Amino acid sequence: MLRLLAFSFLSTAFCFTACADPAPAAPTTTVAPAAAPTTPETKPAAPAEPAKPATAETPAAAAPTQPTPPAAPAPVKVSYNRCNVDGPYIAITFDDGPHGANTPRLLEMLRQRGIKATFFLVGECVAEYPEIVKQIVKEGHEVGNHSWNHPNLLKLSAEKVEDQIDRTHNVITQEAGAPPTIFRPPYGNFTEKQRQWAHDKWGYTTIIWDVDSLDWKHRNPAKTESIILSTTHAGSIILCHDIHKTTIDAMPSVLDKLLAKGFKFVTVSELIKMNHEVPPTPKAPKKTLTAKPEAKSEDVAKAKSTDKSKVAPQKKTTTSSKKTAKG
Ligand SMILES: [Zn+2]
Repeated sequence: MLRLLAFSFLSTAFCFTACADPAPAAPTTTVAPAAAPTTPETKPAAPAEPAKPATAETPAAAAPTQPTPPAAPAPVKVSYNRCNVDGPYIAITFDDGPHGANTPRLLEMLRQRGIKATFFLVGECVAEYPEIVKQIVKEGHEVGNHSWNHPNLLKLSAEKVEDQIDRTHNVITQEAGAPPTIFRPPYGNFTEKQRQWAHDKWGYTTIIWDVDSLDWKHRNPAKTESIILSTTHAGSIILCHDIHKTTIDAMPSVLDKLLAKGFKFVTVSELIKMNHEVPPTPKAPKKTLTAKPEAKSEDVAKAKSTDKSKVAPQKKTTTSSKKTAKG
């Protein structure tokens, strides 16, 4: 009990500083998961069962049915950077809150536009602002686990990682009225093994992002807007932080312009439900040296991302958040 109290005290003390102005991302040598997805986005589906012969002509009694081996279940996808969707659907996410002033301000902007968002909450801030958490949920947004006080989970012992996630899971369950089903590791730092473990233990899907506004770094509303508008595609998961006033300042314009481009906002879990795997692209026939080389998909992505006039809601190429990432 004493230990609990002491821990609680320490965490609360830390919360104050972390929530008010979280320490900048510790430069880690870890590659951001979004940049290095070790789990293939598409896994080959289990081979289809061979077609069974029609049984209509054989009397049921005469032929004892052979037990057919159950088809291997499709592997569960435990982590997403983005989704493949049919339609202009996107999910905007806000991390590190709730914040006493900025989150309610953002909620009003979302309410006015009928937009549903996803909030990855820090446990100690949930404990500090339980009423805001209740408001987030009441207004139809989704909440996810973002650790207790935003450490780099790759630098903690397994026990401490579990404690970070479990305490937050419990406080969100208590304040939101239902357990969260999604988790975002601070800075996106979480190994493949940990993602599987979090799925097995709490039923979590780990959510990274493909659009990184870098709002925490530049604190510039115009930059926040230009990055989001130029890199968001159908199926995108956009990373923002509702603890920064400059991010909220950018939102009316960001949201209105995304809506004007035809995008439709859904929560992360709704986006995941729409996800379908993209069949592997067939091998291109060999080309002669004289044939005009086709632009690689990366080049296409680059070209499109720099062309702000184009909406590419159906685009299948991906953009990854690379280099610096906060989460
Ligand atoms: Zn974060």
